[in-house]
Amino acid sequence: MLKIFNTLTRKKEIFKSILQKKVSIYVCGVTVYDNCHIGHARTFIFFDIVNRYFRNLGYSVKYVRNITDIDDKIIERSNLIKKNIISFTKNIINQMNIDFNSLNILKPSFEPCVTSHIVDIINMISVLILNKNAYIDKKGDVLFSIKSYENYGQLLHKKNNFNSSENNNIYKNDFVLWKKSKNNEISWKSPWGDGRPGWHIECSAINYLYFKNTLDIHGGGNDLIFPHHENERAQSECFYKKKFVNYWMHTGMIILKNKKMSKSFGNTFLIKDLINYFSSDVIRYYFLSTKYKHPIYYNVNNLIKINKILKKWYFCINLSINKNFNFSLNNSSLYYVNLFKKAMNDSFNTPLAILILSNLVKKIIILYDMKKFEKAIFFSSKLYYLGSILGFFNFNIDSNNLNYIKNIKLYKKIKKIIQKRNHARKLKLWDKADFLREKLLKLGIHIQDTKNETFWNF
Ligand SMILES: [Zn+2]
Repeated sequence: MLKIFNTLTRKKEIFKSILQKKVSIYVCGVTVYDNCHIGHARTFIFFDIVNRYFRNLGYSVKYVRNITDIDDKIIERSNLIKKNIISFTKNIINQMNIDFNSLNILKPSFEPCVTSHIVDIINMISVLILNKNAYIDKKGDVLFSIKSYENYGQLLHKKNNFNSSENNNIYKNDFVLWKKSKNNEISWKSPWGDGRPGWHIECSAINYLYFKNTLDIHGGGNDLIFPHHENERAQSECFYKKKFVNYWMHTGMIILKNKKMSKSFGNTFLIKDLINYFSSDVIRYYFLSTKYKHPIYYNVNNLIKINKILKKWYFCINLSINKNFNFSLNNSSLYYVNLFKKAMNDSFNTPLAILILSNLVKKIIILYDMKKFEKAIFFSSKLYYLGSILGFFNFNIDSNNLNYIKNIKLYKKIKKIIQKRNHARKLKLWDKADFLREKLLKLGIHIQDTKNETFWNF
């Protein structure tokens, strides 16, 4: 039974989907004014795992993640480099896709850009004005009236502080739904004059368009709880006149030298740089070793350590490649699967899931050392199965070595030498076989012969 920690209630709750075996997930995506950093990597890797785990549990997942392709920072940046907004954001979206792909993050079911949904946003704002949840202020902007929504502040757990403002400050916390455009600024026509949407309304409008109903799960980084998600909730519940989201999930921040890392923080580590040094598996392992809600104090040394740990994992995975092993779940093999699922069902306790996989790796290595190869291969296939649920081992099982030997030429060379050596052994040409073993050693490759085959690793 899956339990999820709900930010709204601050409790772990039993997950029950609205529709049987279907789950609706919305995660606030990237504002494309700059390339994605490790904070994005953490959030979107985590929700990638939520997506993968639900699929593994047999759910059909509808996962929507928006792209904010218009806001103040985008306008500022594109003006600064004198580039047209559309080509500016297009370049960043392209890089975002490359980054996420290199991190083995599955594509969401839908990935709408805000500028493609201006009409939907205008329609939602019109209804909110009609319902007296929104009004036009003196400057001509459309604002949401927070006092029109009695549950405002619940997500942040500060309900009473918000609506107690004095009369002269009554609009203090009201937020913009539609911003009147300044001269020559990018704008769209609306009943309230030329302008552009405020930040929060886009997610409410896109949610309505894709789900038209209460969402099972809404997620994002915890820097979005306030004001973004609080405001989204206010808009959507006033529009729907019913509950907007059943489970709110938020990932913790990454902290660099005691500074919280968010999209406003300039000195960031970009994914496109990080991926040059570490594989997707190393980065995943690093983030998943901490509970998703907790902060991570970024330390590159830990990534280096994980790189070494994962060599053992790959050694184990390597045992079952090309074996066409039928992974069947008989009773004795369910032990690790059950432990793994128990951890994941406890509000996605990925550090515990990683620990279970590490124990599995230890077991495989012990079995291998005891020359119990059949058993080692069996547990290796299980490691592959469970690791894949966490998005590890992003390679075809036939070519898994490519993940840690990025150089395809080297991979082919190793394979060729092993084939030649096996041939020499068959013909009992022992000198030649020894010579080829030496050759492999010079490449840093260790081999282990069994009766029928040759295993290799670093
Ligand atoms: Zn959002």
